[in-house]
Amino acid sequence: MIRITDKSKCCGCSACASVCIRNAIRMQPDDLGFPYPTVDTEKCNDCGLCEKVCTFHPGYSKKENLETSLVYAVRHKKIKEIETSRSGAMFIALSDWILDHGGVVYGAGYADHFRVVHKRATTKEERNEFKGSKYVQSDMNDVFKRIKVDLKAGLKVLFSGTPCQTSGLRASLLKTDMTNLYLCDIVCHGVPSPRFWKDYLALIEKKQKNTVIKVDFRDKNRFGWKAHKESFTFTNNQSYTYDYKFYKDLMFRNSCAVCPFTNFQRPSDITIGDFWGWQKAVGEEFGKDDKGVSLILVNSEKGKAWFETVKSDINYIETNTESCLQPNLQHPSVIHPERNNFERDYCEKGFEYVLNKYCKDPSKTFLVRVKKSMKNRIKKLIGK
Ligand SMILES: Cc1cc2nc3c(=O)[nH]c(=O)nc-3n(C[C@H](O)[C@H](O)[C@H](O)COP(=O)(O)OP(=O)(O)OC[C@H]3O[C@@H](n4cnc5c(N)ncnc54)[C@H](O)[C@@H]3O)c2cc1C
Ligand code: SF4
Ligand code: SF4
Ligand code: SF4
Repeated sequence: MIRITDKSKCCGCSACASVCIRNAIRMQPDDLGFPYPTVDTEKCNDCGLCEKVCTFHPGYSKKENLETSLVYAVRHKKIKEIETSRSGAMFIALSDWILDHGGVVYGAGYADHFRVVHKRATTKEERNEFKGSKYVQSDMNDVFKRIKVDLKAGLKVLFSGTPCQTSGLRASLLKTDMTNLYLCDIVCHGVPSPRFWKDYLALIEKKQKNTVIKVDFRDKNRFGWKAHKESFTFTNNQSYTYDYKFYKDLMFRNSCAVCPFTNFQRPSDITIGDFWGWQKAVGEEFGKDDKGVSLILVNSEKGKAWFETVKSDINYIETNTESCLQPNLQHPSVIHPERNNFERDYCEKGFEYVLNKYCKDPSKTFLVRVKKSMKNRIKKLIGK
């Protein structure tokens, strides 16, 4: 049976829990809200299946991979799709094709008050919730089991998520026919803590004395694609910008420091990412409006066929692996040296304490930002 003795060896994909026919495994949050499997030893009969399907190691299956991934810079032909997606809206093109063929799409959306969870969509309206990156580990709940049911029913299924999730999903399907399964992963920097996200949201709501109704983890319409600014809209329809501390690397899951998927041997048919450095690779003209360029890696024969089906919806230029190298295609993120102290202090002293101690921009700055933002709005309103 699965025993987590070193937390960095588990990415929380939930594959082990989904295959246990005795329902002996539950995914339970740790102190930072990251899910880990716990085994009910009363129910477990030591069959070993859960260990067998765990693919969070360098030996994960690469048997579907092309010798070298095909590389493209991509932008959706509809500018509205680009404006509402994280980069070039390739995910929309890929998922449109699945939905247009009666299939279902799984991706990261929201439940409860902006808790990030994986969900199932059968319409474009439902699917649109998955647009855009959510910089929090998503809760997989029972989606692996539901995907198995969909595949058995003969539906086309698109699953989009982190590479550790797509790898775990494929392993958990065991002998299920995967002909209709289409896997799309992201180039992945790491996933921040769900607890930090929840507390962060509660803090800005407390400061605003209002409730958040919309979150934009990277507001490229106001700040451009390259900026990393989050926008929050409140019930009074005012939106404000804060710096959510994603890039502090302080609150990443431990497994992200030793991730085996930070390379070109992807556990998915197609990989999507931000094409940093596209200017050199495909020329300035392609993304000069600063709205976003998607990096696409086509990794399997199925990926090749899938890419062909969406070509009429996108503008694309082929390039190569050398021209799109970015850190997380070469090595795992380097986790902040204070990460474990951060976790200890968080548990012992709470959220506001760690925010002030570890984040350069302490919570006072939240108020400053809000005031500045309000001043600008008032100026605009009175036309000064
Ligand atoms: C945590 C995280 C780290 C990332 N790190 C990098 C990076 O280092 N380099 C890079 O080039 N790109 C990174 N990306 C990917 C990038 O931000 C865009 O998602 C990608 O460029 C696709 O953009 P798009 O316009 O095609 O589609 P979008 O509409 O923006 O894509 C959304 C897709 O991302 C999935 N998704 C969103 N949030 C999550 C989540 N929390 N967990 C799992 N899946 C999620 C959705 O299911 C959907 O498929 C990261 C994304 C996330 C969520
Ligand atoms: S299968 Fe996934 S959740 Fe289970 S132990 Fe392995 S990495 Fe962790
Ligand atoms: S060893 Fe078998 S029964 Fe026990 S938790 Fe793992 S899958 Fe379930
Ligand atoms: S960095 Fe690796 S382990 Fe962390 S979420 Fe991304 S794919 Fe999973």
